Amino acid sequence: MDQSLVNQSFMNKSPEFDAELLRRYDKAGPRYTSYPTAVQFSEGYKETDYRAHAAMSNGSDRALSLYFHLPFCSTICYYCACNKIVTRDRSRAVSYLQRLHKEIALQAELFDRTKPVNQLHWGGGTPTFISHQQMIELMAVTRRHFSLLDDDSGEYSIEIDPREIDRQGVKVLRDIGFNRLSLGVQDFDPAVQKAVNRLQSEALTVSVVDAARDEGFKSVSVDLIYGLPLQTPESFARTLERIVALSPDRISLFNYAHMPDMFKTQRGIREGDLPSPETKLDILRLSIETLTESGYVFIGMDHFAKPDDELAKAQRAGKLYRNFQGYATHADCDLVGLGITAIGTVGNSFVQNVKTLSDYYARIDAGLLPVWRGIEFNNDDRVRRYVIMQLICHFELDIARCEQDCGVGFDTYFADELLALKSMADDGLVTLNDGRLIVTPKGRLLIRNICMVFDRYLRSDTGSGQPRFSKAI
Ligand code: SF4
Repeated sequence: MDQSLVNQSFMNKSPEFDAELLRRYDKAGPRYTSYPTAVQFSEGYKETDYRAHAAMSNGSDRALSLYFHLPFCSTICYYCACNKIVTRDRSRAVSYLQRLHKEIALQAELFDRTKPVNQLHWGGGTPTFISHQQMIELMAVTRRHFSLLDDDSGEYSIEIDPREIDRQGVKVLRDIGFNRLSLGVQDFDPAVQKAVNRLQSEALTVSVVDAARDEGFKSVSVDLIYGLPLQTPESFARTLERIVALSPDRISLFNYAHMPDMFKTQRGIREGDLPSPETKLDILRLSIETLTESGYVFIGMDHFAKPDDELAKAQRAGKLYRNFQGYATHADCDLVGLGITAIGTVGNSFVQNVKTLSDYYARIDAGLLPVWRGIEFNNDDRVRRYVIMQLICHFELDIARCEQDCGVGFDTYFADELLALKSMADDGLVTLNDGRLIVTPKGRLLIRNICMVFDRYLRSDTGSGQPRFSKAI
């Protein structure tokens, strides 16, 4: 991609807030951490398929990314839509980790030992539910079987619940190789915290951020959620002010989607306490203004970063990627998912591990990989994935480059999509000039709606009557 154009367009990546358009386009859609999305995964994809794709991966020069799912949480947050197991019984982690160590060995046998692990991520659940010693052992077993980078050049990150870690724990994480962490905060307001059953003092959060800085973590990220019960623009403004003062390198601002039929834990939230759609929009507007005026760059899809953070730099260089953990800076790794429900991207396929502990333990104990389901990409998937990833990471698509990389004539291949984009262009969300499809500042908050135009599966989805995705705003 022409660097001057990339840099030029970066200068104006801040989204423009248009309440009328946001209301009009507010429909459910995927977050495109993958294309095809997990809804398309099929149980027809078996362990033998996964093994074949791992062999294909070995024939490529792609590095590896490892994702570990640590599912346990000691308390429940009512808004949560993650795959987690709530228990106060810490001993349950012992049997899980025994199997996870075995899975590491089983998976490692499939991959060329010389492949570097450029990315590593522990997610959950609450990864810090496990003890310091268990963390040390898990990383040591991983290091024994995979080629982790020892020079701190990898992107090794972990999700932290500040209630489940202390200063010594942060030091342990740094010592075993992590260099980035993301903290769940959501909202500092005590009334909101009570309504979602997540009491977490501001002092606790500040102490973990301070500890991360003292230990030399390269990037500290904070997760916030708007749309939670009892939130008001005034109350959330106070949270934002405190967060900006804390100066994290990255901020994720997620939209709370209330879907209690799909996520049982959300039934703990009183619907009457939820902010109205109008209030939610006000909170969103205020958040975007506050963060961008405080110097954060809007990366896209809920993410903000300081201009000197790796994410913002990668976006400026046209080298930002998106995977199941969100935005990433390391190109096109094969992602190996370990633990229950973990999703991987290996060869030309996505794969997901089994959902329950009993299935996981049974398969691992039998010496089998815990493959549950997956999907092999066909050529059409690859072309559409390319387009969606370019748009969601860089807000623009160089059409000649796309034709060259994907081997299709854009105007013919996407004739229907170009028609559908016409009304979005009329609404000022995109422009198509000089061989570039560009998402305008007005379109940036609706990036997932724009990507949905290129999603073939949404068109053929007759719908099950059940909501499968959350709404865009
Ligand atoms: S938000 Fe995090 S800590 Fe809370 S229940 Fe969900 S996974 Fe567990």
